[in-house]
Amino acid sequence: MPESTVHIGLLLPEVLGTYGDSGNAQVLCRRLRWRGFDAEVVPVGLGEPVPSTLDMYLLGGGEDGAQALAAAHLRKHRRALTPDAVVFGVCAGLQVLGTRFRGLDGVDHDGLGLLDVTTEPGERRAVAELVATSPEPLGPLTGFENHLGISKLGADSEPLGHVVRGTGNGDGTEGAVTGHVAGTYLHGPALARNPALADLLLAWAAGHPLPPLELPEVDRLRVERLTATRRRRTS
Ligand code: GLN
Repeated sequence: MPESTVHIGLLLPEVLGTYGDSGNAQVLCRRLRWRGFDAEVVPVGLGEPVPSTLDMYLLGGGEDGAQALAAAHLRKHRRALTPDAVVFGVCAGLQVLGTRFRGLDGVDHDGLGLLDVTTEPGERRAVAELVATSPEPLGPLTGFENHLGISKLGADSEPLGHVVRGTGNGDGTEGAVTGHVAGTYLHGPALARNPALADLLLAWAAGHPLPPLELPEVDRLRVERLTATRRRRTS
């Protein structure tokens, strides 16, 4: 983690920011400030190159057209988005970080190739609460999903977790990780609902785990969401 301000890049929030995914940047910023670091969110809009000076890069979800636009822009200005960077993408963001995704119109688009993931439209849209198990330090992952795309992981990416409820990637796995690049189908925003995932990204950026934070209200939100999902499943 730099001695000076930590810069959290929020990529193309005007096209990749559905369901409050831009809140992921706020969560990272807060969790750094609560630990005494200076941190700020740096939005990077369409028409701007992606600065290579940022400490982490976030991409949110988006509709198909917006996603294709975002991918085209990022392919052109992707110098900063190397396999060594800390990058986190949600839904359309995950798909753009993959090698290729197919739109509803049947057109294939190149992704950034930071995750070994290809995506095609599935048979029906997954709209639900999504719960996945993941080994410690993450534990159960929770969020909601709204996507048509079904993602297939190649040998160079590992899933983030395994689906307990919902669809995730579509084959029982959820999300993808390669090095310090991660993608998920969890909206929520994901990092508010899964603080251990936020801290994993921060540990990647810092090069070591950060001290734990005691935030009872965040723990309560997590318990409430996991319990609500269990209740709905059994009713
Ligand atoms: N357009 C993509 C899909 O439906 C992503 C949707 C999203 O980001 N929520 O698969």
